Amino acid sequence: MALIVQKYGGTSVADVNRIKNVAKHIAKTYDKGNDVVVVLSAMAGVTDNLLKQANEITNIPEKRELDVLLSTGEQTTVALMAIMLNSMNYTAKSLLGFQAEIITNRDSCNARIKNINADRINEFIKKRYIVIIAGFQGIDIKKDITTLGRGGSDTSAVAIAAAINADMCEIYTDVNGIYTADPNICEKARKLDEISYDEMLEMSSLGAKVLQIRSVEFAKKYQVPVHVRSSFNMEEGTLVVNENQNMEKLSVSGITCNKNEARITLKKVPDAPGFAAKVFTPLADAGILVDMIIQNTRSSGKTDLTFTVARSDFEKAVSISNTVAKELNASEVLTAKHIAKVSVTGVGMKSHSGVASKMFSTLAKENINIRLISTSEIRISCVIEEKYAELALRVLHTAFGLDKDKDKDAD
Ligand code: ADP
Ligand code: ASP
Ligand code: MG
Repeated sequence: MALIVQKYGGTSVADVNRIKNVAKHIAKTYDKGNDVVVVLSAMAGVTDNLLKQANEITNIPEKRELDVLLSTGEQTTVALMAIMLNSMNYTAKSLLGFQAEIITNRDSCNARIKNINADRINEFIKKRYIVIIAGFQGIDIKKDITTLGRGGSDTSAVAIAAAINADMCEIYTDVNGIYTADPNICEKARKLDEISYDEMLEMSSLGAKVLQIRSVEFAKKYQVPVHVRSSFNMEEGTLVVNENQNMEKLSVSGITCNKNEARITLKKVPDAPGFAAKVFTPLADAGILVDMIIQNTRSSGKTDLTFTVARSDFEKAVSISNTVAKELNASEVLTAKHIAKVSVTGVGMKSHSGVASKMFSTLAKENINIRLISTSEIRISCVIEEKYAELALRVLHTAFGLDKDKDKDAD
């Protein structure tokens, strides 16, 4: 008997029929004697639609009101799921974020969970109720509704699992687990049986949206075992756990690509102490996260500063860069909105050499120009033109020997 948190994503609860299938699986888990807490997303497409409707009114809706709007998607699914389970003669209770006391900071639309007061959830579990909690939402200190950023239901689920000390957090989605690359882009991607928290942190931060990065941070911090699997066939998926001896020690275990970034270059900035701070402080003050930075020094006491930001921040970042460029007498500001970042990740990289050279030569063979490079102990990322992103992902996947063996892997 175990305490299990099950999270179902948007495609898994896309209509009443899907909700019925999922309810049967929840009931089956419960009937085995387990306590079950369920976390749900909105139906597929609903959050996007709500956003679109707000944008039909204005380009800049107030974030506080967006939170009120977007949280309605999850309110619908938890109520329908509870009604479904009750109609099947189970006792299910839905809870919205505020009722489950998921306390967040006040960062509207991108709030972070600070604390969960799990008394009510635990009280329901004790009564053997099936608890159905709305993902993606919480409440701040002023009792305003907040949302946790796109994909945030994963984080709700893992944070709740940590708060109630669950034995397992199961994330049900529309693919069979975590793959060596997005299986919807790379058909030769291979499903992993296990992946370490650290590798998954890198993959999530680099664009693998199968788990929101904050959910992996919570899982690692509170040592919550996470099992990512399909709600369509309920087969064994991928376990996200601590690095262990049995893990395949491949030099590279995953390839990701992220098309949500854009590049800005300030040409001929003075090469002297303090100038980098003058460029990046106004960006930070505007809440813009800078990802990669590269500085090319020229001989004339000048330097070119290139950096990447999220594409959603591009216009704001360009306008700030233009102002800064004038102040610093930079010669010009160059921009590229359509770039992609492809990355190779793997804990095995710590002990294997030659990964970088293999990555660069593989891209070169396809005539793909590398614009920026960044590395960590277990990752190498290259910025390239967006139109080559998917090709790059596939050729790197093959070059690093990750393609599935047709005879062995049925997925
Ligand atoms: P949900 O609605 O269930 O939260 P998401 O769309 O957020 O589902 O995440 C699942 C998707 O993540 C998959 O359909 C897949 O396209 C994408 N994905 C990206 N990288 C990977 C990867 N390495 N392994 C599995 N899925 C991935
Ligand atoms: N419904 C939210 C979204 O579409 C949260 C989630 O699905 O995890 O981003
Ligand atoms: Mg998701």
